[in-house]
Amino acid sequence: MKALIKFDYSGLTGEVITKENFSYEEDRKAWNRAIEKYPLIIVFCKTKNDVINAIAWARINSLEIRIRSGKHHYEGYSTGNDVVVIDVSKMNGISVNEEENIVNIQGGVRNRELYEVLGELGYPFPGGGCPTVGVAGFALGGGWGYSSRMLGLAADNLIQVEMVDYRGETVIATEESNEDLFWACRGAGGGNFAVTTSMTFKLPEKIKMATLINIEYIEAKPQEIVKVFEIWTSIFKYLDRRINLKMSIYNSKAKGKGAKISGLFYGNKEEANVILESFKNISKRVVFNLEYITVLEANRRIQDSHPPFEKYKSSGRFVYNDYARGDMENIINLIEHREEGSTYAAVSLYGLGGAIGDKGKADTAFYYRDAKFIIGFQSVWEESEYAPANREWVKDKLKYITHITSGSYVNFPSSELEDYEEEYYGENSHKLKEIKIKYDPNDIFRFPQKIKID
Ligand SMILES: Cc1cc2nc3c(=O)[nH]c(=O)nc-3n(C[C@H](O)[C@H](O)[C@H](O)COP(=O)(O)OP(=O)(O)OC[C@H]3O[C@@H](n4cnc5c(N)ncnc54)[C@H](O)[C@@H]3O)c2cc1C
Repeated sequence: MKALIKFDYSGLTGEVITKENFSYEEDRKAWNRAIEKYPLIIVFCKTKNDVINAIAWARINSLEIRIRSGKHHYEGYSTGNDVVVIDVSKMNGISVNEEENIVNIQGGVRNRELYEVLGELGYPFPGGGCPTVGVAGFALGGGWGYSSRMLGLAADNLIQVEMVDYRGETVIATEESNEDLFWACRGAGGGNFAVTTSMTFKLPEKIKMATLINIEYIEAKPQEIVKVFEIWTSIFKYLDRRINLKMSIYNSKAKGKGAKISGLFYGNKEEANVILESFKNISKRVVFNLEYITVLEANRRIQDSHPPFEKYKSSGRFVYNDYARGDMENIINLIEHREEGSTYAAVSLYGLGGAIGDKGKADTAFYYRDAKFIIGFQSVWEESEYAPANREWVKDKLKYITHITSGSYVNFPSSELEDYEEEYYGENSHKLKEIKIKYDPNDIFRFPQKIKID
């Protein structure tokens, strides 16, 4: 319907892409290529003024806004049909102040760009693994990574967020000013309150070297994978906070069934070897690879392992319990068979603890501080005809995962969550509603899983 109305785009600045533009088809795509959404226009903002004009234009024309940075939202909520996408991905300035140990980034900076700049200067950063994830979208939802147990979530290192609100006014949120919004931006800021145009993070002490960890059990038997799971669980009970790991138990068309552990240790190879020793004895076919390299190189290798895009359905929930052997077998069984058309199905465990738990549940909007792991579940396919069946398959398997977990990670969202505010934000959801009403009273920034004003 909206497409039939002739709009006057003259109030917009920046690069305005409509359906008539040759690049529209490419520009509308999400990283998850299974998302099929057709926005009315995409405004690639290059300055804060472009953002201000885009908000004003959308409001004058009574159009819905979506905010987009790195396009990695699992369910595609940074875009939509007939909406105005305010895209900040071309705002990618990075400025480091080595005297104060802070970095300021614009709203469109991605993981790889930030790692490159900081890594060259010798700084580690608690960013994510995927090179093209937007740092803004990542940090506004918390931001888990291989450095989180030592340095905290990305959000824990934020010291200032600059946003453009529904009136087009600049709002600066810190511990001292607009502190309620600053609180909300550390775990619940994605798409909800205003457009983030820049962020400032404190930087940790410089660290030159780290150990990159890659352990894999290819074509492993179920009992071997259970053993890996048991060791994983027991290691995490006393794990040095300088290390973090992710374990994926997979059923892959290309590689068969197996388990892969990847991670980063801010220490040397010998120490890492001692910590991870018990993973060696499970199977003779284990690939056990530790490399002591620069932090920058380690981040590059982690990032290079990601594909440029995928078609998938995925989710992530918080694990609080110690799983018994039977639970582990049930979890592994979930991927015993892949759905038709699926090329890869996996259950992944992301390590929590360490510095993540140094803050309390109410200190920031990131509520699930004391969980042990995030458990992710996914199916990946190539041919679009298999999308409905694979989505249903993931939804069905999630019933069991939901039963053994509490709460859902907002950065690993699921469209089918019934009470999503409670699931994402736990007891923080009430305070978030008040903040939403204060900073976006007319509900200008909305998407299918927005913080509701009711
Ligand atoms: C392959 C892959 C790997 C991932 N790895 C990790 C990981 O290791 N750790 C982790 O924690 N997460 C990870 N994620 C999840 C990722 O952090 C979230 O999807 C994040 O929200 C993506 O941000 P984005 O800017 O790339 O995406 P977008 O789709 O552009 O945005 C995501 C959300 O943030 C909002 N948003 C984006 N920019 C702004 C802005 N400037 N102002 C206000 N709101 C904004 C959007 O409206 C949307 O709601 C991964 C996702 C993928 C697909």
